[in-house]
Amino acid sequence: MDASANLREISSVDQILKTAPAGAAIECFGRIAVTQAIRAILCETREKVRQGKDVPSREEIAAAAFSRLDANDRPMLRSVFNLTGTVLHTNLGRAILAEAAVDAAAAAMREAVALEFDLNNGKRGERDDHLRALICELTGAEDATVVNNNAAAVLLVLNSLAADREAIVSRGELIEIGGAFRMPDIMERAGVRLVEVGTTNRTHARDYRDAIGPDTGLILKVHTSNYRIEGFTKEVGARELSGIAHDKGVPLINDLGSGTLVDLVRFGLAYEPTVREAICEGADVVTFSGDKLLGGPQAGFIVGRRTLIETINKNPMKRALRVDKIRLAALEATLKLYRDPERLGERLPVMRLLTRSQLEIKTQAERLAPVVKGLLKAAVHVSVVACESQIGSGALPLSCVPSAGLALTPIEGSGSALAELTSSFRRLPIPVIGRIERGSLVLDLRCLEDEESFAANLMSLPAGQGRV
Ligand SMILES: *Cc1c(COP(=O)(O)O)cnc(C)c1O
Repeated sequence: MDASANLREISSVDQILKTAPAGAAIECFGRIAVTQAIRAILCETREKVRQGKDVPSREEIAAAAFSRLDANDRPMLRSVFNLTGTVLHTNLGRAILAEAAVDAAAAAMREAVALEFDLNNGKRGERDDHLRALICELTGAEDATVVNNNAAAVLLVLNSLAADREAIVSRGELIEIGGAFRMPDIMERAGVRLVEVGTTNRTHARDYRDAIGPDTGLILKVHTSNYRIEGFTKEVGARELSGIAHDKGVPLINDLGSGTLVDLVRFGLAYEPTVREAICEGADVVTFSGDKLLGGPQAGFIVGRRTLIETINKNPMKRALRVDKIRLAALEATLKLYRDPERLGERLPVMRLLTRSQLEIKTQAERLAPVVKGLLKAAVHVSVVACESQIGSGALPLSCVPSAGLALTPIEGSGSALAELTSSFRRLPIPVIGRIERGSLVLDLRCLEDEESFAANLMSLPAGQGRV
């Protein structure tokens, strides 16, 4: 038969809609979507038949429509295995939330909540009321408020306390964080005039003192959270700086970036200033993130003196930067875990992952190595390696945590083999994201908790990847 005779053999939309797979598809996606998908596939089928391909059955066309709709239905925001070795990976969504926080957020989504409603007197309440006492208890601050993220917190604080006035910052602290957050740009947008003092490597107390004048709105100290200046350096500590600020009657703002509510040294990690310490050292306002070391949802905390927090709350910008009930619920549940720091290592994923020992991770790698080897072609060498995890998201710059993982190395050694391997892991049902290191794809297992689903997921490695 020639192609035009074959074209007449192709079933019609109506015939295909009557098949069993089409019925199943209609159950899932509705008649309109299924009809559209069948039309699209028929169009492609006609083209293929014209080129001499066989005529597919109606069931085959219906099944193709089903799988296309199914694939389109997958969430665009996919879950992944973060095996990059960076625990708080900004591009992979930073902190994984504690179960208690997930449950609280889900409940807040399903139900009406007394978000701005005072249950004691039936009057209007404030959304900050739910967290204020808890944050003050955990940080020693007088008052607190929460906004969308720490970038918003810094913007709001600057604009509220120093619009049209000067903000004094050390040249060594004019940071840029990923995603175009540059301190000088934020200051400009906040309507604040930046006064840089000192030099890149050395800033002295007198630099600050000399810069303070009638137009000074505040002094800003920024935690250099993603880099470190080493060598011939000098910075003015927060305590000394607060003395200088208060002598002249200007507030000291300390942007801690990540900030932490517990002493990380207790958990075997490098020292990071706590929010309580920053308050004790005399900062009038401290800002920090919700989804970095704190381990909660995205949020920005502003804590400090009551009069300043009141001023900040009166800024109309606050309304534009506020957080919703879902995040407030998750934050409350996360913060409550800090009342029992002894159990944070079990309950708070960020802490649980950061405190896993290298030995435990290495044992896991040894367990998984034969599984992975069995699923890859012989041309990929699989070995258990020691590696270093990073905390990430600008917390604890340059300090790494010893870890372990699997190094997958194409034996051919060509770059394209490695690129193909990396991409086949990225295309798995649950994409596996590792990092490339000296000719290998390294999977740092620090953040791998669900080993079973990881192994099941690998079964989908493409046959082309040489499954034996
Ligand atoms: C991360 C960081 C910010 C921004 O915080 P987000 O929560 O990401 O908006 C601001 N300042 C410092 C010092 C940081 O490390």
